Amino acid sequence: MLTFIYCPDCDVPAEVTDRFALASTSGPADHIVVRCAAGHWFRMASDLLPESTRQHLLMQDLEPHIAHVAFGPTG
Ligand SMILES: [Zn+2]
Repeated sequence: MLTFIYCPDCDVPAEVTDRFALASTSGPADHIVVRCAAGHWFRMASDLLPESTRQHLLMQDLEPHIAHVAFGPTG
């Protein structure tokens, strides 16, 4: 399911192509990946979205997944 918002940069319709959580000192921080029709590409904390847009996102049945980032050697 894709969620459409407006580009933070040029205000054309943009789609949320991914949503994930990054660990922070205060717990998982919800992030989104946004790509607008003009080709802008953002990866940003969803906290930065206008409240109305956040509410729209929250209404979507999207479960953020935890991004697994490997630090250092694995195995
Ligand atoms: Zn844009």
